Amino acid sequence: MGELANCPKCNALFLKTKLQTVCQACIKEEEKSFEIVYKFLRKQENRQSTLSRITEETGVEEELILKFIRQKRIQITHLPNLAYPCERCGTSIREGKFCKACQSDLKAQMDHLDHEDALKTERENSKKDTYYAYNTKNN
Ligand SMILES: [Zn+2]
Ligand SMILES: [Zn+2]
Repeated sequence: MGELANCPKCNALFLKTKLQTVCQACIKEEEKSFEIVYKFLRKQENRQSTLSRITEETGVEEELILKFIRQKRIQITHLPNLAYPCERCGTSIREGKFCKACQSDLKAQMDHLDHEDALKTERENSKKDTYYAYNTKNN
């Protein structure tokens, strides 16, 4: 399922889907950029490059390179100086979607939610039984 939208890059009208967020022409441009970056990083001597070095050498914008990394089209396992921002706080990370701090933060929040949920269910389950007692207590 898609909807007609303006391409965020060139403003052309195109059918936007979950996977396709830019128009066909821009996808082709991205593919070209990908080839360039990919070829650049295939060379052993370029594997130590930082993001800004790759941008300088290939002319491909950082945002696009990061997109390739996020899509895992560029694997950074063997590229020690590459990282991408945590989706929550922007800290540089090399695996997953979130940095360590955000991970434990999010986990704490989840645990909290689970706890709240459990409490709520418990309260709702016991509501019927305690309703009478609760009422008399307050009257
Ligand atoms: Zn476009
Ligand atoms: Zn983070």
